[in-house]
Amino acid sequence: MKVPFVDLKAQYDAIKADIDEAISDVITATNFIGGVQVSQFEKEFSKYIGIEHCIACANGTDAIEMALSALGIGAGDEVIVPAISWISTAEVVNTVGADPIFVDLIEREYTIDPKQVEDAITDNTKAIIPVHLYGAPARMHEVLAIAKKYDLYVIEDCAQAHQAQINGQNVGTFGDIATFSFYPGKNLGAYGDAGGVVTNDPHLAEKVKMIGNHGQLKKHDHRLLGRNSRMDTLQASILRAKLPYLNDWTVSRNQVALWYGRYLKEEIVKPKSIEGFEHAYHLYVIRTKHREVLTRAFDEHGIGYGIHYPIPLPFVKAYLYKGYEKGDFPVAERLSKEILSLPVFPEISEEQVKFVASVVNEMG
Ligand SMILES: *Cc1c(COP(=O)(O)O)cnc(C)c1O
Repeated sequence: MKVPFVDLKAQYDAIKADIDEAISDVITATNFIGGVQVSQFEKEFSKYIGIEHCIACANGTDAIEMALSALGIGAGDEVIVPAISWISTAEVVNTVGADPIFVDLIEREYTIDPKQVEDAITDNTKAIIPVHLYGAPARMHEVLAIAKKYDLYVIEDCAQAHQAQINGQNVGTFGDIATFSFYPGKNLGAYGDAGGVVTNDPHLAEKVKMIGNHGQLKKHDHRLLGRNSRMDTLQASILRAKLPYLNDWTVSRNQVALWYGRYLKEEIVKPKSIEGFEHAYHLYVIRTKHREVLTRAFDEHGIGYGIHYPIPLPFVKAYLYKGYEKGDFPVAERLSKEILSLPVFPEISEEQVKFVASVVNEMG
């Protein structure tokens, strides 16, 4: 039995008629940039998340960068980011000319440690970017309390956490502004790059929209120096076709997590459930001291896996200039050696999960 890490083909097969129609509508209309597909997606996605404004853009990396720009963050400013994330979270801080300050994670939760956030604050700190990593909500209430105390902005990176919730409220609605990625493998994925910024603040929303469209308020009215970061109409149309299924997919991901919880042996460290925190299970991440042996067994059996991420951000080559030292991020350093992402996608069967678990139980 082969088990892929994700199976986008299975998803396409299940909703082929919707997708094919969405694509052919755009091609027939030959309207490839902007238009009603994009504006409707923005309306539908913001309604789905429970927020006032959504600005569709080219990808999830641009989304964070434009959120930072719209907040006026730039040279001389510091932005606090977690030591483990996809590099975008930190990289965009450099792109706008500011300085990313890395903070360690909470050992069993894999999200930024609010206590250490407070310790990292200086006179130059302007914002915190909590990441809802793997689909697990970060401790937003504590992060927001610190932000309020020190008058900092909060930008939620929701790229892995569409529909993750805290006490019934979607992530992305807690901070000043939040960003999503619709990269194909994300919980809501386009058929290419796509992203979005959401906020309840109309001024911030307008600013992000202008930044992503050459600073234009309307055509040829360039109010500021922006850039091009628009979502393709084709991608918007595909995302609109997929959005009605997102809830079912999230339910399925949670079912898969329950199966793993049932079939994996006691000794395997599994994702922690926190009361009131609804995980979106973009990734199902376990910890094992025998990762090398286990991944070799996965390779032999044709089981897909991932490591998210093998090197804490302060230690990737591009960030060595910051001079962090071994031991500065004990949790992130330990995690990066032990974490392993198991296959999880809505269409995976209980038999497949059982099989993956049996290999983990034997070798992990
Ligand atoms: C995927 C991802 C991004 C970037 O999204 P892209 O659409 O690939 O640019 C940012 N942050 C996190 C945590 C991600 O997983």
